[in-house]
Amino acid sequence: ESQKETLGFQTEVKQLLHLMIHSLYSNKEIFLRELISNASDAEDKLRFAALKDDSLYEGSPDLNIRIDFDEEANTVTITDNGIGMSREDVINNLGTIAKSGTADFLKQLSGDEKKDSKLIGQFGVGFYSAFIVADRVEVFTRKAGAAAEEGIHWESKGDGEFSIEPVSRESRGTQIVLHLKADEKEFANGWRLRSLVKKYSDHISFPVVMTAESTEEGEEAKDETVNDATALWTLPRNEVKDEEYKEFYKHIAHDFEDPLSWSHNKVEGKLDYTSLLYLPARAPFDLYNREAPRGLKLYVQRVFIMDDAEQFLPLYLRFTKGVIDSNDLSLNVSREILQSDSTVESIKSALTKRVLDMLSKLVKKDPEQYQKFWDEFGQVLKEGPAEDFGNREKVAGLLRFASTHTGEAAQNVSLDDYIGRMKDGQKKIFFITADSFVAAKSSPHLEVFRKKGIEVLILSDRIDEWMMGYLNEYDGKQFQDVARGELDLGDTESEEDKKQQEEATKTHKELLDRIQKALAERVQEVRVTNRLTDSPACLVVGDHDMGAQMKKIMEAAGQ
Ligand code: ADP
Ligand code: MG
Repeated sequence: ESQKETLGFQTEVKQLLHLMIHSLYSNKEIFLRELISNASDAEDKLRFAALKDDSLYEGSPDLNIRIDFDEEANTVTITDNGIGMSREDVINNLGTIAKSGTADFLKQLSGDEKKDSKLIGQFGVGFYSAFIVADRVEVFTRKAGAAAEEGIHWESKGDGEFSIEPVSRESRGTQIVLHLKADEKEFANGWRLRSLVKKYSDHISFPVVMTAESTEEGEEAKDETVNDATALWTLPRNEVKDEEYKEFYKHIAHDFEDPLSWSHNKVEGKLDYTSLLYLPARAPFDLYNREAPRGLKLYVQRVFIMDDAEQFLPLYLRFTKGVIDSNDLSLNVSREILQSDSTVESIKSALTKRVLDMLSKLVKKDPEQYQKFWDEFGQVLKEGPAEDFGNREKVAGLLRFASTHTGEAAQNVSLDDYIGRMKDGQKKIFFITADSFVAAKSSPHLEVFRKKGIEVLILSDRIDEWMMGYLNEYDGKQFQDVARGELDLGDTESEEDKKQQEEATKTHKELLDRIQKALAERVQEVRVTNRLTDSPACLVVGDHDMGAQMKKIMEAAGQ
């Protein structure tokens, strides 16, 4: 009796498959990178699990990835001897998408292939990319340490369902057989496959083995390693080409686009570690999901320990991708230990500086690219002043604002730009916060600044008022909310202005008293102002009171 079962893909998988096959067609060769990347992850996981239980190696600890092809049958086969999958693993991993927010993400896709291919890239297609070139995919797998009979055979045409049945497998690990589409024959070719391995997977940590092409008729087939097989970050910087850095990024970040920048450093001395950090060009779809995975890939003495080690960077730098390989941590290190380890604390503060420096360098080297970074991740960086008091001056230098100077909503003015344009005698950096750019821009509080030609930064993101609560000064200049307290325009105010205001206060004393009485408890004080040129009156918040925007947020939260 057959124990074959047929199951349906999760709806999201069906949608993804459909979109991917159509929109990634011009990138189709990346399927090999994705499958090798998974094989490499599986070897990493086995090596980690075997630290505790080396019987998992089942007597064969040499880890490698094989690629075979059959021109006649039009197949490509990728075999690893990594951790393998149980029946349950297979159903979960190759039938669903575990990332939360996937359904919403897929709804955003437009059907416009060019646009969607970018979006899908940021989602990371992984295993399912096999269906770009194959019309049938088989997976044979058996978990390391399990009995041969616990093997699983998975099969699908990528059309909405898959079948699964037990199979006996002597060797642990996973084998993926791609039955290529009739018009994808080009991939069942040794030279083509070799060049793809070199191009995309040269510096994964494990050997990728193929049968040598030169084998003569009748001669026994010889194997050869086709990639370099040394982990990229262990190489000296001057031996790594930009292309290789970029490909390695795609391997670890599950991203299709090139990174904006990277920083590769070997540190020796009190601390002993290597880090390779990347700035992505595009925000992942779940950047604002608090539960979304973040953090670095952690290795200890070149042994993979875990993905998403979030203890090595502050939250506001969570867009950073990369690898940290430490020689100081123990191979037994766990997430709990990482949380309270002083070595980790020291590495964290060093890596924080590295990322901030990488950003400052990008500003100098390529302001346009930095602007691109800001548009994607600026909102996250704005959490910096509150989270990382020690680096707030550095973070502040990286912030970008809308401003009355440009009069546009685009956030592209730096504090240095602002300071460079300050008026003679102006001592403070002026800003206004509001719910929207339009509301801020038309605020009566800006009248006097317009008249005097003093620039005001316009802040209208939800996080802005909160952020400004943590920024007191930059480059020795204080920040001043134009809607708060007494306006100190510095020496830009002439003696005459001041005199005029004093006189007006005297002349209109009676009127001020009457308004004060009428408004009673609702205001603290009514006074004559030099703030306005056209509007008759405006509201001002006390120096230490909660700002209007913050008040609304608190009210909305029921406080
Ligand atoms: P990702 O690699 O981003 O997790 P994939 O779609 O590439 O996503 O793979 C989904 C999951 O399937 C992996 O997380 C892993 O658990 C499992 N998987 C895929 N390929 C293999 C393999 N060769 N060996 C073991 N597990 C695998
Ligand atoms: Mg993958």
